[in-house]
Amino acid sequence: MKILLVEDEAKLAAHVGLALERQGHEVRIINDGAEAIDAALKTPFQLIVLDVNLPGADGLEVLRRVRQASLPVRVLMLTARSEIGDRVAGLKAGADDYLSKPFALEELLARVEVLGRRAAGAEPSDILTAQDVRMDVRQRRLWRGGEEVAVSPREFEVLQVLMQEPGRTFSRDEICERIWNREHEYETRTVEIFIMRLRKKLDDGRSETLIETVRGAGYRLRS
Ligand code: CA
Repeated sequence: MKILLVEDEAKLAAHVGLALERQGHEVRIINDGAEAIDAALKTPFQLIVLDVNLPGADGLEVLRRVRQASLPVRVLMLTARSEIGDRVAGLKAGADDYLSKPFALEELLARVEVLGRRAAGAEPSDILTAQDVRMDVRQRRLWRGGEEVAVSPREFEVLQVLMQEPGRTFSRDEICERIWNREHEYETRTVEIFIMRLRKKLDDGRSETLIETVRGAGYRLRS
């Protein structure tokens, strides 16, 4: 994969860049947000690994510019552990995934691999699919078996989290954290309500439920 790594901590950038190259990727390292926007608009990368705090333009601004240009590129945001607001803003602005700093290198490589598999499907990054479900993230529209399904914005967001990695189990906490600010503790319980409503709308007349409950762990999309 052709990867743009935007990170202003030189040591970290070199370390991550080398690891990605060892996995067979072609890596370009840029340490400034404005330069990153320029490079992303000129060169077709498959993946941008994007730090949030950058000189020039911050990571969210880089992400916004890339999405405005409708580039078919995956974006993995790197955020500080305390910056939950950044993660939420990043996902809302169109990031495909995020990783909290400090992270284990193996974790980053695993995320990159998952994003690479999705990019290989050559889908534009605002379309998510799983089984016969299709989701247009930009237009916030949802279809199952070719028929459009009307859901509320929050139901959409909950499903969007699950659709990002079909088959992977997401805990209620993680779903909340990806959508809302974790400070609102009551939200974890409301996830159950949104899941219930989604099942009602999506499983209509079908024998198997699309969203499986994993006892004591959370929810996942049947894959
Ligand atoms: Ca930084």
